[in-house]
Amino acid sequence: MPPLAVAGPQAFRIRRLAEVLTAECFLRYTLHMLAPYAVAHSRGRRHPEPAHPYRKDFQRDRDRVIHSRAFRRLEAKTQVFTRRYSDHFRNRLTHTIEVAQISRTIAAQLGLNVDLVEALALVHDIGHPPFGHAGEKALDSAMRRHGLSFDHNLHALRIVEDFELRYAAFRGLNLTFEVREGIIKHSRDYDVAEYPELAEYMLDSRPPLEAQLIDATDEIAYTTADLDDGFEARLLALDQIKEAVPVFARFSGDVEKIYPEAPKKLQFNEVLRRVLDRWVGDLIQNTRAQIEDACNPGRPRPGKAGVDARPYTIGLDDVRACPQRLVLLSSEMETERRETKEFLYQNLYFSTALEPEKDDAERVITELFNLWMKQPEKLPSSYQEKAAQEPLARIVCDYIAGMTDNFIYEQYEKYCENV
Ligand code: MG
Repeated sequence: MPPLAVAGPQAFRIRRLAEVLTAECFLRYTLHMLAPYAVAHSRGRRHPEPAHPYRKDFQRDRDRVIHSRAFRRLEAKTQVFTRRYSDHFRNRLTHTIEVAQISRTIAAQLGLNVDLVEALALVHDIGHPPFGHAGEKALDSAMRRHGLSFDHNLHALRIVEDFELRYAAFRGLNLTFEVREGIIKHSRDYDVAEYPELAEYMLDSRPPLEAQLIDATDEIAYTTADLDDGFEARLLALDQIKEAVPVFARFSGDVEKIYPEAPKKLQFNEVLRRVLDRWVGDLIQNTRAQIEDACNPGRPRPGKAGVDARPYTIGLDDVRACPQRLVLLSSEMETERRETKEFLYQNLYFSTALEPEKDDAERVITELFNLWMKQPEKLPSSYQEKAAQEPLARIVCDYIAGMTDNFIYEQYEKYCENV
């Protein structure tokens, strides 16, 4: 420490304060130590950039996603319920924030790179079109009539690589390799023979645990949230959920004993938070067990046959070489989650109450798609210019996929309703 220009009790107090601050910094550092299997550094960006003086690479990615237009538009995109139902229900943005919150909690417990996890969580639904899954289905059907298809992961990659225009030096957000890889490996696998343009993302390798985590938390977040919104919308009744979802029935019994006088909605909340806590706790414990199993001394390292002398740990390369993903619920909890998801499919997602919304989505997207295919001169000029380089159907699809629910309704009123 440099000599202090003050003496006496004041100098002592300053020195003591410096010691406390140093200890605090060290504590923060140790708390943020990464596990050996975490992503410690990025492989880099498509366009090299100098390091930022006080933000790390994945922190910059997180911030770039937050400041993007596509991220802001998530606020007006349907998750399950449109605004017609209530302002209280999740939209694509609040769902995204919930995924980020759950993911950060788990990542810290597992020693994963929390900054990368947060960036991946915030970007994970950025490629979704308006009107939730109904919109995605309608857009895909429209594309298939032209021999193409719509895929929200691939669309998300186009957004961050090309559509977002914020920087003079390059198109897109110039995100790190790891965030782009996480986008492509979200919830599905691509075959390199079918998608040679994605070869740089090592399609035969498992994604890092940070990316695997987002898939698991996404499922947990929307399953519990959709129960909540479905109950609040009075489309799902407490007794109906208890009958079909055993884990819900079990916790309901506990909660009714502890809070017999509480209003039904608060009893429901108490049950739901116990279910969420149970699955999150299990995901942490079971993933640790999966990692320990993959680390078990005496077993060959994943993907490295014949190498048996190794430390009691696995690194990122081993995670990538593993034949299966490691961030998993235990089989018991996975069964619970599947039962709950199945219940939601039967009683919420495919309910007659939501049919008018789905019909709307299909009609609006299909009619606008067909209109712009027939009259591309009605597209904005920037999209007309792009149509010189790519099939018109892809350009129309990109335009529609980027829209919010509000904006696409405006377009529908403008071009289709008064025809
Ligand atoms: Mg999601």
